[in-house]
Amino acid sequence: VEYQPIDLREIIHEVLGFLHKEAEYRCINISVNVSEALTGFESNRGKLQQVLLNIVKNAFAALETGGSLEINVTPEPEKSVLISICDNGCGIPAADIEHIFDPFFTTKSNRGGTGLGLSITYSLIQELGGSIIVTSHETQRTCFEVTLPLKPPEKK
Ligand code: ADP
Ligand code: MG
Repeated sequence: VEYQPIDLREIIHEVLGFLHKEAEYRCINISVNVSEALTGFESNRGKLQQVLLNIVKNAFAALETGGSLEINVTPEPEKSVLISICDNGCGIPAADIEHIFDPFFTTKSNRGGTGLGLSITYSLIQELGGSIIVTSHETQRTCFEVTLPLKPPEKK
């Protein structure tokens, strides 16, 4: 994996830019908050972009008109970065939670879902040395929390 200095504010706005039109006509409220305290983050730009796009696209699919998407970025202890992406859409039923990262698991079979987005996301985050967890309650808030190392692993 190649590492580059990453401006998370910029990369998040880039990803949201792909969905700007859709957000507008569906009246989706988007809030982004990147902590000022975060500096010196290095990761792989392309992989990170793909991760964020997959999660945000799923959030959009879950949201109704007028729904909200919230992205918060904060530095964490042990030199890591927490990116949390929350929506107040349809939620994930408890029985589905353990399957959403499986390849081909989708609840969008009639809407062209491939079920690959989150399994790819999971692999990409592993390649970046990070982790992902999800919390959700049906008809309530769904949050994907991605933790990434602030810097590349020590080179041997
Ligand atoms: P796809 O989007 O093609 O269905 P994904 O791997 O991206 O495949 O997602 C798998 C499933 O996880 C989705 O079909 C959906 O049921 C669920 N899911 C993912 N993100 C959310 C979310 N933010 N809210 C509700 N359900 C979600
Ligand atoms: Mg998807």
